[in-house]
Amino acid sequence: MKIRAAAALAVLALARAGGGATLFENGRIVTDPAATATEASILVDAGRVVFVGPVAEARRRAPAAVPVDLAGAFVYPGFADAHGHLAELGKSLESADLRGLRSPADCAEKMRASAAAAGAWLEGDGWDQNLWTPKVFPDAKTLDAVFPDRPVFARRVDGHAVWVNSAAMRAAGISASTPDPPGGRIVRRADGSPSGVFVDNALDIVMRARPEPTDADLRRAFAAAFASCASVGLTEVGDASGYGAREISILRAMAGDGELPIRVYATIGSFDPGFDALLAHGPQTGEMLSVRAVKIYADGALGSRGAALLADYSDDPGNRGLDVTPPDRIAAIVKRCFAAGFQVWIHAIGDRANRAALDAFEAAEKAVATRDPRPRIEHAQVVSPEDRPRFARLGVIASIQPSFTTSDMPWAEARLSPRRIGEAYAWRSLAKAGARLAGGSDFPIESNDPRKGIYAAVTREDASGAPPGGWRSEEDLSRADAVALYTSGAAFAMFQENRRGTIAAGKDADFTVLDRDLRTCPPGEILRARVLMTVVAGNVAFPGR
Ligand SMILES: [Zn+2]
Repeated sequence: MKIRAAAALAVLALARAGGGATLFENGRIVTDPAATATEASILVDAGRVVFVGPVAEARRRAPAAVPVDLAGAFVYPGFADAHGHLAELGKSLESADLRGLRSPADCAEKMRASAAAAGAWLEGDGWDQNLWTPKVFPDAKTLDAVFPDRPVFARRVDGHAVWVNSAAMRAAGISASTPDPPGGRIVRRADGSPSGVFVDNALDIVMRARPEPTDADLRRAFAAAFASCASVGLTEVGDASGYGAREISILRAMAGDGELPIRVYATIGSFDPGFDALLAHGPQTGEMLSVRAVKIYADGALGSRGAALLADYSDDPGNRGLDVTPPDRIAAIVKRCFAAGFQVWIHAIGDRANRAALDAFEAAEKAVATRDPRPRIEHAQVVSPEDRPRFARLGVIASIQPSFTTSDMPWAEARLSPRRIGEAYAWRSLAKAGARLAGGSDFPIESNDPRKGIYAAVTREDASGAPPGGWRSEEDLSRADAVALYTSGAAFAMFQENRRGTIAAGKDADFTVLDRDLRTCPPGEILRARVLMTVVAGNVAFPGR
């Protein structure tokens, strides 16, 4: 099956120019995550679905509608990622991917090849000297040969070291007399001169010389991220970055200029100097851009032992993680946000952070008269079983990242012990306890491809199929529930259940068109599904022209 994409784009352009209706015909329509795919057509006008049903009836209603032949493809409600980071994704797309390269010279060449796209400083990511012969740190001279003047820096695969050229060291004012900072190391040549590799706390010495991104840099990063998201079938992203006034004004300008091909539901950060003004502005709900949520961090991450736990890390006695924002401060911010009519997203990974978030929501719901605050906990990764029912009781949404399950499975049990691992990544148990779930990827930490999240939620296996049968498969989700994470679940988590998340007359014409049915294909095929078209408000956001 093959959609005649070029023809479809041409007719859509015509339809828009004439302001007329569009008829998506010969599709197999999945109206909601649990519904059987049904042969039908969808009549769209002015960005909304007008009718779903037999093609003859659609033609009778709108004889002049411009047809788009879907050639038997599967049409899903538009996929939304409930938790991603657009600016970060855009920046990472401009960074050269050095993972797996076999020599410093290969890395320099890869960066040269990607040089045209980027800003003042050129970035790379992912080198690993363990793949090289000999297995030693690289030297600035390899980069200098290709980039004598433009500052260049490249992060090691684990992010704990950077490799820079001499231009970057000059910009940072680094010389042989620069001392190693506490907790950091400047790698040096035999003569004592810095070799261009900076480890741990020494990273800051060179990174702080990087220029702040300009507005043009940010706009370009957002545009690249939108295109990437549309290409994997996303029609909307919940941006968990907790932006400041500057990023929000850029997003508002792009929305005003018609430069948002997908919808964005953005959060603002409570530590930005512009926070008070953004809160005073009040919640904004627009067609393409909504700014009506606040992001707060309760703790760190499990991998680096920063997640706040109720008991010690089993592989680090005496350590219970970090309160990134003290619980009383969280409670105060939540009350302010509820009073201002904003939704609140609290990043909480450990069981102590999740309890603090639930406590803060409970206190705020008692103290502030709000009709429908719909608070969210981002990640909800380790939740004490006694806290699970509180999600339903307090109306808290668990915003989960199924791909973390398979990324973290090699080491998560070491952090938590064989007993407490049962409290982690417990998506089915959370749902059974009545929690509403929404699905996201946390891109660019994980891929922004929703098929990967659906696959991980269903199989709990990595892309190679390991471990067979899935890791703690008792916590898997049904296919329909996994698709719901990225459709109806995400829509509810962004106050959009009346507009999006299912396909029905009156709702927005947001569709993700795939070559197969993710609910009935063999599980391994979920990852091989192709996105044929991404439609937002009746417009084709992917493939582009
Ligand atoms: Zn995140």
